[in-house]
Amino acid sequence: MTVPDITAPARLTPYRGRFAPSPSGPLHLGSLFAAVVSYLDAKAHQGQWLVRIEDLDPAREQSGASAGILTTLVAHGLEWDESETYQSDRIDLYRANLATLQRQERLYWCQCSRKQLTGQAVYPGTCAHQRQPLADAAIRFQVLSEQDRFVDLFQGLQVCAPCEQAGDVVILRKDGLFAYQLAAVSDDISQGISHVVRGVDILDSVWWQRELYRALGSAIPHYGHFPVLLRPGSEQKLSKQNHAPAVQNHTASANLVQVFRALGMDFASDSPPQLLQQALAQWRCRPLFSQIHLQSRTLRLD
Ligand code: GLU
Repeated sequence: MTVPDITAPARLTPYRGRFAPSPSGPLHLGSLFAAVVSYLDAKAHQGQWLVRIEDLDPAREQSGASAGILTTLVAHGLEWDESETYQSDRIDLYRANLATLQRQERLYWCQCSRKQLTGQAVYPGTCAHQRQPLADAAIRFQVLSEQDRFVDLFQGLQVCAPCEQAGDVVILRKDGLFAYQLAAVSDDISQGISHVVRGVDILDSVWWQRELYRALGSAIPHYGHFPVLLRPGSEQKLSKQNHAPAVQNHTASANLVQVFRALGMDFASDSPPQLLQQALAQWRCRPLFSQIHLQSRTLRLD
């Protein structure tokens, strides 16, 4: 088995990054933090920063959330390059990539129920023999790598045995909706994303995503997984599930000051564009400094 060369840079230049929120609610400080870090890293490398709304699951979507997220980004001075994209417009692309994977015989139809899989951290491959389309079944993508590794921009060397520790992943759900892994990879490839900068809570997805890049014949991007913000006084991450409050656009400057403070940057309040300029100057000149704050798995807001 060949171990991938982790020193070889991805053949993807120039820098194109993205922020990919799901419209299941308004941005909270944790998701604003994600937007800010991906923006700063892209802009510090003279890169482009795109916004992609990951709206594939109508049941989880909150009405008006997409528009609200875009308004909040603008209020915080986070202007994106090119037009924003919506995953719900890109189903044909996902279908085409699904067909490619099917031609490679990397897919199977899985009828296991959630209940049957309770307590299984990794899918045991029960349905791996079902290679022909079946009704009322999810489609799984078969993982083949026994070992994989890469150097995360913030978290350092990451190593995994994907077959054993990740397992085969659902890419089309039983209800016919495309699942996150194939959709995100398809978009990142078609949008030419060179740097995927997002929260460390998604780090485990990398192993499936790297496998999908290889199967689809595309260069794998650089990854940077930054820490998640914790709720003040708690060990829980700030998230919609934990009812993190929506950020208020009229306090945009104060919100940015708070986010920068979590990164160890102390600025007096100013307009959002000025604050972003100051943060950018620090991000460019002090990579080591920002690295120290970014290499942990959690950060606390004070
Ligand atoms: N849509 C995902 C989220 O809101 C982000 C996925 C990604 O950045 O790859 O958590």
